[in-house]
Amino acid sequence: MGVLAQVDQEIAHSIQNEEMRQRRNLVLIASENYTSMAVQEAQGSVMSNKYAEGYPGRRYYGGCEYVDVAESIAIDRLKRLFGAQHVNVQPHSGAQANMAAYAAILEPGDTVLGMRLDQGGHLTHGSRVNFSGKLYNFVSYGVTREAELIDYEEMEKVAKKHAPKVIVAGATAYPRTIDFERFRAVADDVGAVLMVDIAHISGLIAAGAHPSCVSHAQIITSTTHKTLRGPRGAFIMCNEEFAPSIDKAVFPFTQGGPMMHTIAAKAVAFGEALKPEFSDYGHNVVENARTLAKSLENGGLRIVSGGTDNHLILVDLTNLGITGQQAEDALGSVYITANKNAIPFDTKPPRVTSGLRLGTPALTTRGFRPQEMVEVARLIVKTLTNINHDPVVEEVRTEVTDLTSGFPVPLDDVA
Ligand SMILES: *Cc1c(COP(=O)(O)O)cnc(C)c1O
Repeated sequence: MGVLAQVDQEIAHSIQNEEMRQRRNLVLIASENYTSMAVQEAQGSVMSNKYAEGYPGRRYYGGCEYVDVAESIAIDRLKRLFGAQHVNVQPHSGAQANMAAYAAILEPGDTVLGMRLDQGGHLTHGSRVNFSGKLYNFVSYGVTREAELIDYEEMEKVAKKHAPKVIVAGATAYPRTIDFERFRAVADDVGAVLMVDIAHISGLIAAGAHPSCVSHAQIITSTTHKTLRGPRGAFIMCNEEFAPSIDKAVFPFTQGGPMMHTIAAKAVAFGEALKPEFSDYGHNVVENARTLAKSLENGGLRIVSGGTDNHLILVDLTNLGITGQQAEDALGSVYITANKNAIPFDTKPPRVTSGLRLGTPALTTRGFRPQEMVEVARLIVKTLTNINHDPVVEEVRTEVTDLTSGFPVPLDDVA
C-alpha cells in the first residue's frame, strides 16, 4: 500500500482499518469469505484499464488480445469446474446475473415462481422493492411450519395453478440441501424453465459438498465471492439452447463493458477451485457448520430446521427474549460479525427480526476446524445470554482476539 498511503491518506487509512478488522474479528457472515492473494493481485491489476465490450474474439474495441486470453481461460475453467455446456463470466454481481437470466427468457409481466423472501429467497426473486418484483409477476413457495424445510408439495401446487414460465430454485438463507431433481420434475410438468440461483452454495457444489444442479437446471446463476471464494462478481451457466439469448442479455442488454480485472480474478479463483484442496475446503465448511449448529444447540439456542446441511445456520432467538438486531449489535461489540435474519414465519419486521444467520466459509478459509467452532459457539452463547453486561463484553473481546490471532488471513502469507 506504499503509493496509496502517500497520495491519499484518508482512503489508505480506511483500508488499513478494514484489514485490521478482517484479521481481528470472527467473520460469520454466511456470504463472505477471504480471497487469496493471487485473486487480489489479479483484481487489483491493470486489466481494470481496458474496455472490452463483446466477447473473446468478437469485441467492439481494439487491443483486446490479452484480456481475451484471461476471459477465455475463465470460461474454460468454469466449464470444467461444473461440467457446464455454456458459461458467461461477465455479470458484475449476483443481482446482475439474475437480471440478465430473466431478461433472456422472460417478457415483462410474465409469471415466475420463486422462494418467499421472508423464508430464505433473495431480493431478486420477486421483492417489491427490486426490479424483479416490478418487472415480473412473481408467485412464491416457502417452507413448512413444522419441519422448516422447503414445501415441495406447495411449490408443485402453486406451479400448477399459475403455470409460471420460470421456476427459480435457490436461496440466501436456507440451511438445508435443495432437491433440484424434484424442482425439475415440476418445471417439466408445467412447461417451465428451471433456473437455479446457487449464489450461496456454488463453492460447495464445486467441492462436491452439495448435490449439483447442473444436470437438472437449464439456467444457473451464481456469485463468485461467497463459498466459491473469488472476487466480487458473478456468472451464468446454461444449456447450449439458451447460450445466444443469455450472452445478449448480459451484453448489450443489461451491461456495458465487462470488468476485465475481475474476470481475470475469477479465472484465478476457478483455477483454485479446480484443485483437490478446494474439495477438502468445501467439506470442512459443512463439517464446521454442523459442529457450530450442534454446539449452539447444546448452549440452549434453537436452530431453525434443527441443524444444517450446508455452510449456514439460522438461529431462532425467540426463547432468549432478544431480537436479531440486538444479537447482531451485541456480537458486533465483541468482534463477532454476523447478521440478523428473518426466520420462517417471523413475527418481527425485517429491520428487527427474530433470527441470526451464521456461516462458516470465512473462518474455514482461516483454518478453523470443529474444535475451534465449539469455542466460537461458546463465545456466541456467552455474549447473547449476557447482553448489556459490560464485564462480559471485555472478556469476550479478549477471547475473540486470542482465538483469531492464531489463524492467518491470506494477507499474512506475503507479510
Ligand atoms: C447474494 C445473492 C445474490 C446477489 O448477489 P450480489 O452479488 O450481492 O448482487 C443473488 N441471489 C442469491 C440467492 C444470493 O444469495
